[in-house]
Amino acid sequence: MVIMNKPPMLTTQQALERLLANALQIDGVEAVSTQQALGRVLAEDVVSLVDVPPMDNTSMDGYAVRCGDIGSPGVVLRVGQRIPAGSVGTQLEPGTVARIFTGAPIPLGADAVVMQEDTVVPDGRSDHIQITVVPKLDQWIRRRGEDLSAGKKALAVGTLLRPQELGVAASAGLTHLQVRRRVRVAAFFTGDELALPGEPLKPGGIYNSNRDTLLACLRSLGCDATDLGIVPDRLDATREALRSASKNHDLIITSGGVSVGEEDHIRPAVNAEGRLDLWQIAIKPGKPLAFGAVRRQATQDPLASLKDEAWFIGLPGNPVSSFVTFLLFVRPFILKLQGRNNVLPRSYPMRADFDWLKADRRNEFLRVKINSMGGLDLFPNQSSGVLTSASWADGLLDCTPGKTFSRGDMMPFIPFSTLL
Ligand code: AMP
Ligand code: MG
Repeated sequence: MVIMNKPPMLTTQQALERLLANALQIDGVEAVSTQQALGRVLAEDVVSLVDVPPMDNTSMDGYAVRCGDIGSPGVVLRVGQRIPAGSVGTQLEPGTVARIFTGAPIPLGADAVVMQEDTVVPDGRSDHIQITVVPKLDQWIRRRGEDLSAGKKALAVGTLLRPQELGVAASAGLTHLQVRRRVRVAAFFTGDELALPGEPLKPGGIYNSNRDTLLACLRSLGCDATDLGIVPDRLDATREALRSASKNHDLIITSGGVSVGEEDHIRPAVNAEGRLDLWQIAIKPGKPLAFGAVRRQATQDPLASLKDEAWFIGLPGNPVSSFVTFLLFVRPFILKLQGRNNVLPRSYPMRADFDWLKADRRNEFLRVKINSMGGLDLFPNQSSGVLTSASWADGLLDCTPGKTFSRGDMMPFIPFSTLL
């Protein structure tokens, strides 16, 4: 009797480690304007050209004063000058104050700002002001360089450029940023049953939902994503799709066909066109994930990240499985290719407002939603084919393999909003 030894299933952690050990940062940098840089990844540190703020200035509308002039509440002082934002005053003479507006430079000699609300205009003396509250030294003054210093790092290489980073770069005086080129990813979708929305469904057919989910995932990570369409369940067609995908892409992503049934051609096709590891990962939904590389014909492409190969990741076909495995495995892989600093999904402890009594030996990721009490509710149908579970949910609850939990327990929660 021949006993087939199945390779042991990898844990989520082991699979991630293997994947990330293979992900090398791609070459290629381009300069883009801050207007075009949203979602890109910094290829070098951003160094500030200026101090921010560039000068001491007031954070309040009010009066710039010398504290020494105001020993007690009720002091009346002459308003010697007016300094709106964008203009510069003159040295503050002792015994006078300067009318000043938010963002305007603090005049030399002033050491505090009294906000307008802490003053009254004395009767018939519009060129004087009465200070009703004794100021503290330095109050309402924003010091030069308290945000950024000229010549110092404002943003670190590997940072994802979100709106706030673009603002920081602009405040530092930059018009353009050096960013990594986009990772080029080709995706195709295996399955004779698949049809495109807009086409009539044949008996036995189902619409290709992975195309829209996965291409949107790729684009939301800032990839250049190419849709290579639906590929029939045939070895020659799958091989041809791989060859054509390898030409101009760093990474090839597929959905479906990664099991070991005779209609599953991904494994033999990738083996024939390159090299493949098929991993059974002890997760749910998900399980089979294929990782490898596809040989590239000699390329003239100066941007090709691997000279003679494109990376390959094959995802399972079930819509929730492919979405979840994309988020847990493909996303960190792509982030590492981009040279990003933090690539792993982060979880946060949240209260489960339901019991989970059927422990699975796999690491299960439940589709859950934050309720108005600040706890997590469970979507009733956790089937890997029910994609509305992912649309209803705010994220994934990460169940420890082999463990149950009860209502009220704190569990690790991965918000979708931190992933895409
Ligand atoms: P497979 O991984 O190819 O065995 O497919 C597993 C299940 O996912 C089957 O029920 C397929 O019909 C379904 N499926 C595969 N690819 C897609 C897709 N692109 N869109 C929607 N369902 C799919
Ligand atoms: Mg299939």
